[in-house]
Amino acid sequence: MPTYKAPLRDIRFVMDELLDFPTHYAQLPNGDDASPEIVSAILQEGAKFTEEVLTPLNQVGDSQGCSYNEGVVTTPDGFKEAYQQYVEGGWPSMTQDPAYGGQGLPSSLGMVLNEMVCSANLSWGMYPGLSHGAMDVLLHHGTDAQKEMFLSKMVEGSWTGTMCLTEPHCGTDLGLIRTKAEPQADGTYAISGTKIFISAGEHDMSDNIVHLVLAKLPDAPGGSKGISLFIVPKFMPDAQGEAGERNGVQCGSIEHKMGIHGNSTCVMNFDGAQGYLIGEPHKGLSYMFVMMNAARIGVGMQGLGLTEVAYQNSLAYARDRLQMRSLNGPKFPEKAADPIIVHPDVRRMLLTQKAFAEGGRALIYYTAQLIDKVHAGGEDANEANELLGLLTPIVKAFLTEAGFEAANEGVQIYGGHGFIHEWGMEQFVRDSRITRLYEGTTGIQALDLLGRKILMSQGESLKRFTKQVHKFCKAEEGNSELAEFTTTLSQLNQEWGELTMQVGMKAMQNRDEVGAASVDYLMYSGYVTLAYFWAQTAKTAQTALANGTNETAFYQGKLATARFYFQKLLPRTRALVATMQTGADSLMAMEDEQFGLGFEI
Ligand SMILES: Cc1cc2nc3c(=O)[nH]c(=O)nc-3n(C[C@H](O)[C@H](O)[C@H](O)COP(=O)(O)OP(=O)(O)OC[C@H]3O[C@@H](n4cnc5c(N)ncnc54)[C@H](O)[C@@H]3O)c2cc1C
Repeated sequence: MPTYKAPLRDIRFVMDELLDFPTHYAQLPNGDDASPEIVSAILQEGAKFTEEVLTPLNQVGDSQGCSYNEGVVTTPDGFKEAYQQYVEGGWPSMTQDPAYGGQGLPSSLGMVLNEMVCSANLSWGMYPGLSHGAMDVLLHHGTDAQKEMFLSKMVEGSWTGTMCLTEPHCGTDLGLIRTKAEPQADGTYAISGTKIFISAGEHDMSDNIVHLVLAKLPDAPGGSKGISLFIVPKFMPDAQGEAGERNGVQCGSIEHKMGIHGNSTCVMNFDGAQGYLIGEPHKGLSYMFVMMNAARIGVGMQGLGLTEVAYQNSLAYARDRLQMRSLNGPKFPEKAADPIIVHPDVRRMLLTQKAFAEGGRALIYYTAQLIDKVHAGGEDANEANELLGLLTPIVKAFLTEAGFEAANEGVQIYGGHGFIHEWGMEQFVRDSRITRLYEGTTGIQALDLLGRKILMSQGESLKRFTKQVHKFCKAEEGNSELAEFTTTLSQLNQEWGELTMQVGMKAMQNRDEVGAASVDYLMYSGYVTLAYFWAQTAKTAQTALANGTNETAFYQGKLATARFYFQKLLPRTRALVATMQTGADSLMAMEDEQFGLGFEI
């Protein structure tokens, strides 16, 4: 069975040494409570909960899955009890607004905890994970009465939330939704329609489930401008604010799927269910984006969590498994064979996992700081918001693509045993596959990055970030020991802007050029962004080594991984540039009948 140990040393490295969270917290209005002692306690307790409670349930969840019986969904053994412990530990309220019973700690702390949850048990983590996004929407766009009615219960953890967007005929293109909302005399709405693929849509872990549902009013304009957002609880709140009468929403079935078996993926039938409008009519999609943006970062975190746990188990196996001798002669002559970690190809796979895990952690914790700054408001908020907008599709798509690669390499490191269920490595591959799909596929994230975030802002958001990278490289110009990183980073940073211009120019003649370049462009952007964090990591490690440290192996390991990243992973950008530059012609030239199938022999 796979194991998991929360990587507290590396988490502390990123928080304390690389990104200076103590100063960051000191500058936040709600940062006082995030004292070093509190942060330490949260990390320790989070590690204990995820290692001892959630990890042992991960394979149970995969093997048992959820079961469905006449509208009732039962989660795998132990899931409900683990959720109870999570609620009793006060975790759901940690970063929520004190006005609704929250503890008011910065969001970034919740994200650090979430990394551990994603590594330990991705399927379980999605039950509380979706509630967080739903609470954000209610907090920002709900009325006081709605907050009173729903938010406190969700903050407490006794009610959970969902996001109901997808319908059988539409996922990416939400303008096509058919779910209807009929205004009622009492000011509520009757919601009717079918939603599919609703994560945590029905389960046995909480007393009530609060669905946030996209639907169309009778007078709605066509397309995505005509979508409104509604709160539809499973049980209507009674006069005491408790779960009362059953509402007209039922789970019709659950999906049998490739991975995340422990999480229920539900068909939800709304049959005149009573709903409450959030905000103004027809503006629902913009409100839902609050939840979708949080969920996109959350899915990026799932990519990171799986990368980390795949690495930990692969490393342990590679140290233990004896096969063949090192090409340079026996490294462990006293043993029957050398452990496979001596082989260059196994090291390539391990270092790929390590580079994605630790580089990804730096990127996503940086994003977490941006989220804190946006929440805090004030003068930094606009800049943070722009950077966050730019980095969100990169976090979502690049870290999930990396997570899938890391999980796949985990299977490879285990050899044939990786393919066998009981070792648990194949579960990570199956679980990670969905992260590249939901919350907008990699293709959709790529269009968002290149089309909406960069070209539509005339490259302004990208310039903000590349300026920051340029500033770092410039400041380190005289640092010859760092030149192996900063020289390449500086070239790529400049090339990033040039490539953007090239694609932008082509797109003025032909919009398909954006779609043809976008996924390569996103992956390129991800590699350069991670290079920036690896160069900073190298600098921090160099400084620690120069100042004298009793953790030499830790910091030398950082430098060695940075070197591996620059020498073995970053050159992938060359292929991406080449494919980006060949443009749309070879993709679009083929006529439909030339695709084949239908040719007569
Ligand atoms: C396990 C699971 C859990 C889920 N949880 C939820 C949930 O909780 N709530 C919810 O509402 N939904 C949920 N979803 C739905 C998920 O978000 C959608 O499946 C996803 O957004 C893709 O939509 P689709 O499946 O309809 O694919 P489609 O939209 O049909 O896309 C099919 C393919 O076409 C591509 N494509 C589509 N449009 C374009 C374009 N303009 N340019 C380039 N490529 C394009 C896509 O990238 C994809 O490769 C879940 C799905 C699964 C499988």
